[in-house]
Amino acid sequence: MYGYVGKILEVDLSTGEFEKVDIDEKDCRDYMGGSGLAAKIYIDRFPGDVDPLSPENLFIIMTGPWTGTRVPGGNRFAACARSPLTGHWGEASCGGYFGPELKAAGYDGIVFTGVSDKPVYLWINGDDVELRDASDLWGKDTYETADMLIERSKADTGRKAKVAAIGPSGESGVKFAAIVHDKHHIAGRTGMGAVMGSKNLKAIAVVGTGKKVEIADPDAFKRWRELVMEDYAESLVVESLKAFGTNANLEIGAMLGDVPFKNWQVGEDDEVIAKINGPTYSDEILVKAYACWACPIGCKRVIEVKDEPYSVARGAGPEYETICMLGSNLLNDNLASIAKGNEMCNRWGIDTITMGAIIALVTECQEKGLLSVDECDGVSIGWGDPDGMLELIEMAARNEGFGARMAQGSKALSEEIGSDAPVMAVQVRGLDAPAHDPRGFHGFALSYATSPRGACHCASTNLYLEGGSAPPLPQIDLEGPFDEQSSVGKAYLTARAQELGQIFNAAVVCYFTAVSWQEDALITAINSVTGLDYDLDSFMRVGERIWFLKRGIQALFGSGGEEDIMHPRFYKAVEEGSHAGSVPDFDLMKREYYEYRQLDDEGRLTRGKCEELGLGFLADKLGI
Ligand code: SF4
Repeated sequence: MYGYVGKILEVDLSTGEFEKVDIDEKDCRDYMGGSGLAAKIYIDRFPGDVDPLSPENLFIIMTGPWTGTRVPGGNRFAACARSPLTGHWGEASCGGYFGPELKAAGYDGIVFTGVSDKPVYLWINGDDVELRDASDLWGKDTYETADMLIERSKADTGRKAKVAAIGPSGESGVKFAAIVHDKHHIAGRTGMGAVMGSKNLKAIAVVGTGKKVEIADPDAFKRWRELVMEDYAESLVVESLKAFGTNANLEIGAMLGDVPFKNWQVGEDDEVIAKINGPTYSDEILVKAYACWACPIGCKRVIEVKDEPYSVARGAGPEYETICMLGSNLLNDNLASIAKGNEMCNRWGIDTITMGAIIALVTECQEKGLLSVDECDGVSIGWGDPDGMLELIEMAARNEGFGARMAQGSKALSEEIGSDAPVMAVQVRGLDAPAHDPRGFHGFALSYATSPRGACHCASTNLYLEGGSAPPLPQIDLEGPFDEQSSVGKAYLTARAQELGQIFNAAVVCYFTAVSWQEDALITAINSVTGLDYDLDSFMRVGERIWFLKRGIQALFGSGGEEDIMHPRFYKAVEEGSHAGSVPDFDLMKREYYEYRQLDDEGRLTRGKCEELGLGFLADKLGI
């Protein structure tokens, strides 16, 4: 099969047995790969209403047909399972080098079942697959774990393994624990690190053995890639990502009303932005830029902070989301402390977005008298308080005392605190909103409400289409330009943007490299790699089918239209910034969206629509 290496590795952690099974060709056509194919595998073996941290929960790592090719940004893999943070479908995407290495070892994906009776790591060196004792790694942070496994790999094979590992927070069940790949790349969201920890699976170390991803039409692919590179050479978006990384978005985002301040209560703060924006970052902490596999952009940052009290050894620097969630949203203008917080989260293995959201919740609760300093184990925190922030990160990461309460996530903590606290935990379906304000981009309200994993910026291309950084898509009636602060027409835009997002997460590709590809380019990219003959309609259908499948899985987990909400905080307008006074008309967007999606009034799937998409088996499971 072109675009795939053809095998899924099945690992039963309870018995220690392995099986290498052929990838299903029809499923590849219908669900492509990544989180789409993972969702299909999950539903095929649906374990029922299981505890996400129990042996019965499946844990799936999956690449896509673009992973390991020279498709720019074709380097990602998806990590999927029922989420311990949300209780719903969970998925996290990760770039870097692990996905291509896994394919070079001969596997498109890995499916884990069961639980090991002792800590182990999965060692893959082509056909040589082994569960190795990880007792000496247990308790090590993700950086130490990567170093140790890379050293062992060099000793064994002469080559550096690519490592995806959890830290102590994943081991102890922090519900927003992440998977960290080689210190720089994070599968952060929905607690996939905790799922690994619950299975006593410390890490996966993979060494490729030269298995090639065959391209169906190398000439067409080469021509397509040359055109893409020409476009990049003229793109201002690419230029700014190269110059400032993802933090290039901070200043422009703040101007457009995208950036959160003071737990989403304030619309702008120019002084904070000036101290943490892209140019300041470059001046004060940047060492060099860095790129994932097959990426001509290189938005990743290597940084170093020499001065105490926030010294950070040369290594991965914070990205836009982290800079907002540990910076602007806490009114923290101390860039070095943000870099320190980022390093701590990476080493412990926790998601910086959720961590920042919890700190914002605790800060506001202390300010408003809903939490005492005593209840927080003596930690006092106010706005713009880097030391308090770092103390809370350490407490949550350790999962002890008040930290164990934070480790349950912002929704659970806010409900436990009670009173108005849930209004201060800005989430949908238990997943904390990333740093994009729906009052600045109305479509985001709908995107958060109906994303398969909760409030998520990586399940759709809304931001790029609404904001105009992606070109129009006239063949699917997205001509633009769009008024970011209007709710009119956003139901259709969001639905189509979600379909594209689901395809990006299935193919699997980096959004920054791919959002500039228009319809014909997308079709050429997928067909030249896979040899399949998608037309635009069947291509977009893949995204639609995946969205419906994940929606069905959510329903089986007990989450339906009642959770398609805009968080209360976004019903209150901010008074500052370009989005002052702006509130999305969520009811209008949701009504139009349900109509377009052919959901019933309660947001439920219908059998007719399921069957139209080839999801009759899902309708059967749902009993509709
Ligand atoms: S744009 Fe950035 S995140 Fe995307 S593939 Fe390139 S380096 Fe990685």
